[in-house]
Amino acid sequence: MIFPDCRADLALRDGYHSPQVDVAVRLNTNESPYPPPEGWRRDLASAIENVEFNRYPDRAATRLREALAGLHQVRPDQVFVANGSNEVLQSICLAYGGPGRRAAVYEPTYALHSHIAHLSSTEVVQGTRRDDFSVDVDQVADVTAAARPDITFLCSPNNPTGNALPAVSAAEILELSPGLVVLDEAYGDFADWSAISMVDDEVPLVVTRTFSKTWSMAALRLGYLIGPARVVASLERVALPYHLDALKQIAGRLAVAYGDEMRRRVAAIVSERRRLQGALENLDVDVWPSEANFLLFRPKSRKGDEVWHGLVDRGVLVRNTSNWPSLPAGCLRVTVGTGTENDAFLSALEETL
Ligand code: PMP
Repeated sequence: MIFPDCRADLALRDGYHSPQVDVAVRLNTNESPYPPPEGWRRDLASAIENVEFNRYPDRAATRLREALAGLHQVRPDQVFVANGSNEVLQSICLAYGGPGRRAAVYEPTYALHSHIAHLSSTEVVQGTRRDDFSVDVDQVADVTAAARPDITFLCSPNNPTGNALPAVSAAEILELSPGLVVLDEAYGDFADWSAISMVDDEVPLVVTRTFSKTWSMAALRLGYLIGPARVVASLERVALPYHLDALKQIAGRLAVAYGDEMRRRVAAIVSERRRLQGALENLDVDVWPSEANFLLFRPKSRKGDEVWHGLVDRGVLVRNTSNWPSLPAGCLRVTVGTGTENDAFLSALEETL
């Protein structure tokens, strides 16, 4: 029997996958180290009692979108919700990309932007960031003039480098872009500035957010976008019917009431990030400034790969980005954990180095 081959271009770029090693301290996927608030768990447990499981969920996710609109002071028709911000990005590519269309990315950046673009048969146009990982707006102008991208992906704070895009650069890029500008703010709550304030029905800018990092709810798979109402309407055309289940809609809506707890968690992580940064500066590594919940660093006298193995041997898992094509060789990325986890990482690193 002849078995059909799947598309040859479906594999994720080499080097992206991170092995999940069973160790005590997992600092490799930028999750929150804290569980969600206890009160939220209780609210969710009692709300589940009333779910009509035999019925399809609210297709428009009305109450969740109202809650998110309230959180960001926008209108519910400016909010699109999906199963993780990756699915938001996929919806963007399906609606605004596709055959004959182009998406621009500026490497090194979040690998899923170009991957999802490829999956949707969107041509990827690649620019590069400066050596300090900042976006060079003059280069964006050149790439944009040459390729006329339908989508420009930017990530702020940028994964895996941690630096944020200055507001002036965002405004300049918006000014010169002929297509949709997507600002991926998965780590936006850890930074000083968010582009959500720039969202307007007449401006082709969308900002994507997630419950996976600041909200301590990576298991929930919930992400959303704030953008012009007409863009949200276009994204709804590519979303599958009832794509967001009832439990997720309730869980997300109830979470929004715990904004104060979330902000306290963010503040704790930011303060740990500063401590970690200071400690790394005293070791034999280069470390880059970060406005996210992770830090990129590079051992000066040892190979990144060896250091990664040394850390795993000591029970600490960080992201092995040492062979990522667009990063300087030998870099590693560590997620900011609890104080105890960060201490474990620092002593394992010191020993390994
Ligand atoms: N954008 C960026 C920049 C990310 O780092 C991640 C998570 N790795 C995502 C989006 C996807 O997040 P989610 O869990 O919401 O799909």
